[in-house]
Amino acid sequence: MNNSICYINSTLRDVLECINNEPAGIAFIVEENKKLCGVVTDGDFRRLLLSGKSLQDKLQKEQLSEFIFAYEGETLENLLKRTNKRVRVIPIVNQNHVPIDYFRYEHRLNITPVAQPNLAGNELKYVTDAVLSTWISSAGKYIDEFENGFAKFCDCQFGVSTSNGTVALHLALLALGIGPGDEVIVPDFTFAATANAVLHANAKPVIVDIDPLSWCIDPKEIEKAITPNTKAIIPVHVYGQPCDMDSIMSIAKKYNLKVIEDCAEAHGAKFKGKVVGSFGDISCYSFFGNKILTTGEGGMCVTNSEELNDAMRVLRDHGMNKKKKYWHDVLGYNYRMTNLQGALGCAQLERINDLINQRKQVENQYKETLKDISIIRWQEQLTGHDKVTWLVSAWLPDGNRDKLFDELKKNQIDVRPFFYPMSEMELYKPYVFSATNSQRISKLGFNLPTIQKDQIDFNKVLNAFKSIL
Ligand SMILES: *Cc1c(COP(=O)(O)O)cnc(C)c1O
Repeated sequence: MNNSICYINSTLRDVLECINNEPAGIAFIVEENKKLCGVVTDGDFRRLLLSGKSLQDKLQKEQLSEFIFAYEGETLENLLKRTNKRVRVIPIVNQNHVPIDYFRYEHRLNITPVAQPNLAGNELKYVTDAVLSTWISSAGKYIDEFENGFAKFCDCQFGVSTSNGTVALHLALLALGIGPGDEVIVPDFTFAATANAVLHANAKPVIVDIDPLSWCIDPKEIEKAITPNTKAIIPVHVYGQPCDMDSIMSIAKKYNLKVIEDCAEAHGAKFKGKVVGSFGDISCYSFFGNKILTTGEGGMCVTNSEELNDAMRVLRDHGMNKKKKYWHDVLGYNYRMTNLQGALGCAQLERINDLINQRKQVENQYKETLKDISIIRWQEQLTGHDKVTWLVSAWLPDGNRDKLFDELKKNQIDVRPFFYPMSEMELYKPYVFSATNSQRISKLGFNLPTIQKDQIDFNKVLNAFKSIL
């Protein structure tokens, strides 16, 4: 802090230099004998200039107001108690009242989160516009624009927005006529919503193992699990990695099965140059707060079938007849998105390529920083699979993950273990067909913070890895 210590009676120019030298934007003012006698923040400085002082004038004791300080050795709790909206930096003095350090309260950076939405574009502008227009419910220009724009992004003709990704999956199953007595093949390694949606449709999920390299559903296991009751497959492009869609689509064709892609974690990923979401009969997206494109809560079904598009729109809207208002031919749901969510979606969609690129750069930076850590294994980049980075995903040999988590948490860096496999949870055990790779990988893998690059202290991450070796 030496650069930000300034003697009383220095010129205001010198004080400004001190403020400028200090990332916290503050100068600590001391007397001749080095005792602390005040602090000047950049706000205080503005007020001095506005009161008519010039840079050549000297800083006088009368110009300093009361300030808060602490003694060396005080507890963190005591320091925190003394911060408030105005006071974010507290000088710390020794017994002789000489400043030796300071405490800075940084509300946002205390812990590096695993995920954080990036809302730096037109999000606020469009949401404000939606509010001012009073179209805040489930009709309005942003919904139509977002549905059309996002469907196009997925190389599909139709987009049906929903209130979240889970109901998008449910809606897709309903529109395809899947219900009691039907079996739907899902991977063991996914977020539980995939299997839950099948159960909500009163059908039976058949849970199969994953491929050890892609971590996605293993086509060989799909084929083994097919019975006369099998109606559909839900491949999940897990952690941004596209499934082997060639094999899955040819199995679907051979056995006459429907395919619902779960693209919740893979906006923009491609398999052999074709974007995920454009393979299945219906494909489902989530726009939850931690997904690549977010609307807070939200989801969408995309399809190239006009018939399925119409069916989903009716089911989403209470089953109401599209021509005869308040007339219901089928049991429907209220699964609609609001225009407010649509406004967020439109703003995010304008920047979708940036959002995807920024995440990729974060992953590349981790790889670069940790290139000498030989035990770390990154998510595979398989030929033909153009994965996107959802949450940066990696794994360590057995026994190392807990040690790493402790080190990262000590450094205020959040980290997530991989999903538990469905097969380990009582609720889903009755539906398990196979689960070997999923159980092994789930125990080894983890997700590192995938937020704006300048908010990640990559060196701290490196040191955490070094200290477990
Ligand atoms: C997030 C997610 C969902 C569910 O989406 P919500 O919008 O949270 O309901 C479904 N499947 C997968 C694989 C997901 O990651």
